[in-house]
Amino acid sequence: LAYQPIIRLKDGEIAGFEALMRWDHPKRGSIPPSEFIPVAEMSDLIGPLGLFAMDRAASNLMTWQHQTGDLPIFVSVNLSSAQLLNADLYNDVRALIQKTQVNPSQLKLELTESLMMENPEQARLVLAKLKETGLSLALDDFGTGYSSLAYLTQFPFDTIKLDKALVRDATEKRAVLLRSVIAMARALDMDVVAEGVETDEDAAELAKMGCHFGQSYLFGPPAAADAVLRLLKERFPLTKRA
Ligand code: C2E
Ligand code: CA
Ligand code: CA
Repeated sequence: LAYQPIIRLKDGEIAGFEALMRWDHPKRGSIPPSEFIPVAEMSDLIGPLGLFAMDRAASNLMTWQHQTGDLPIFVSVNLSSAQLLNADLYNDVRALIQKTQVNPSQLKLELTESLMMENPEQARLVLAKLKETGLSLALDDFGTGYSSLAYLTQFPFDTIKLDKALVRDATEKRAVLLRSVIAMARALDMDVVAEGVETDEDAAELAKMGCHFGQSYLFGPPAAADAVLRLLKERFPLTKRA
């Protein structure tokens, strides 16, 4: 798993990380998730793989917490549709919280709408139960696909992640769209993360519009867990926080 920082736009501080899966193949090198996740989804491997991601992310977060003095950061893990439709998910997540002792308020799951569309009734039930454990839920890739606004009221999301396509829209209507979506999210009491922010100007503009967080190469590429620990120690020296 690699971890990409999610930055609070207001002060530029690290708020959390998204866990992104990589496959380090002995011959083919690093294989991106776009190649192996769809294959895993077509087989029965996505269940264990997705659970592995959640488990590893929670364990790494606990290590970072212990080593840095309980920083208030979160870790966000991607969830696949096959996982959501698996009857064991809720129990698996509960067991994982027990085992890793992670504080569920520091754990986020990211889902795309295509996932909910497959079976909205079941998705609603499972998400409501997951939410009861105290973790939070992010609607990923918002602004692509159908982005039905109904998902925002029908499912218990507390975070919207704006897709880079929306953030980077080259037309002059971009600002209107972004401002409206951010205002809507805020009115619904949701956090907003902008993906694919390319320049400092864009980051400043998004912050002014009320967007809470940003995630992109501008703020940092995905990095290994030990590099994250070094980064956290550097950014949050214990003396500064005392
Ligand atoms: P995503 O959830 O939208 O993740 C963000 C992707 O955008 C990541 O690609 C990240 O490296 C990339 N990215 C970040 N900043 C920038 C930027 O400034 N410019 C550009 N062009 N790209 C940026 P990555 O790591 O290749 O992941 C691709 C997708 O694979 C993810 O999209 C997610 O849907 C899926 N994925 C990754 N890990 C997992 C996992 O553990 N489980 C599941 N189910 N899906 C995963
Ligand atoms: Ca994601
Ligand atoms: Ca995304």
